[in-house]
Amino acid sequence: MNIPFLDLKAPYIELKDELDAAYRRVMESGWYILGTEVEAFEAEFAAYCESKYCIGVANGLDALHLIVRAYGIGPGDEVIVPSNTYIATWLAVTHAGATPVPVEPDVRTYNIDPAKIEQAITPKTKAIMVVHLYGQTADMDPINVIAQKHGLKVIEDCAQAHGARYKDRRTGSLGDAAGFSFYPGKNLGAIGDGGAVTTNDDILAERISVLRNYGSKVKYINDLKGYNSRLDELQAAFLRVKLSRLDEWNERRRLVAQQYLTNICANTLKLPYVAEKVDPVWHLFVIRTGIRQQLQDKLYADGIGTLVHYPIPPHRQEAYNELGFSSGAFPLAEKMALETLSLPIGPHMDAMAVDRVVALVDAIIENV
Ligand SMILES: *Cc1c(COP(=O)(O)O)cnc(C)c1O
Repeated sequence: MNIPFLDLKAPYIELKDELDAAYRRVMESGWYILGTEVEAFEAEFAAYCESKYCIGVANGLDALHLIVRAYGIGPGDEVIVPSNTYIATWLAVTHAGATPVPVEPDVRTYNIDPAKIEQAITPKTKAIMVVHLYGQTADMDPINVIAQKHGLKVIEDCAQAHGARYKDRRTGSLGDAAGFSFYPGKNLGAIGDGGAVTTNDDILAERISVLRNYGSKVKYINDLKGYNSRLDELQAAFLRVKLSRLDEWNERRRLVAQQYLTNICANTLKLPYVAEKVDPVWHLFVIRTGIRQQLQDKLYADGIGTLVHYPIPPHRQEAYNELGFSSGAFPLAEKMALETLSLPIGPHMDAMAVDRVVALVDAIIENV
């Protein structure tokens, strides 16, 4: 029995009738950009995130980049980012011309460590971009306190945390503005690319909706130098179907995570830690081990797909040579890059498959 890291066909099979109906509805409407489906999805997703506004955009990177732009953050400004994240978080900052200032993670949660943020703040700092990595929320209370004290915006990268809660409040409304990705493998995934910004800020919402559409509110009248970054009608229609299952599918991910957490015995492994105030949605199930390569190779030989999130931290990427960070600049992020391994998880993974992964992991670790 092979177990892929990610199964994108099973979601389609489960929702085939509804997704096919959504497809036909949009095809027959003859209206494909910025219409009733996008409007309806925006209203539904804003309600889901307990946020006043949702603006659909082309992808998660654009969502974050447009927020930075809309706040007028650019050359000469600094934005605090996690050292341990997907590179899109940093790209959103540098695409706007601003400088990312990395802060190391908490060693247990892998999210940005609030205790290390203040020492990274300078007179140039304009915002803190937090990432709710792997589906667990960052520790938002102390982060919001620091932001308020220094007059900084808090931007959430929610690409891995649709529906996660921090003290009973949803991601997407835990800071000033939030960017979501609907890349197919995310907890809420489209059948292609998609993204959204959520916020309670009237002015920001207005600016994002103008920026995503050529800087234009009224057709052929351009107030800003904008972008073409729209969520399209087809993806919005698919996302409405998927959104109606998000809580149920996140619950199924929780069951998989619980089964891993209770049954993996190998005590040389580090299993994910869930902070008290956090209700995670398990986008990824990330373990840590000093023998990562051996474990990954042996699981692969037994038909189990795994991935590494992420093998090279942003500050060590060729793309960020210009920032001049040497090896050892952010040791925790670098250590994670060497030790993390993501086991298969998803709403369509059954208990037998999880048992098989558990048994193999235990056996491999015991025998090295
Ligand atoms: C997926 C992801 C993004 C980018 O989303 P896209 O839709 O692929 O542009 C940004 N940040 C994080 C943490 C992600 O996992």
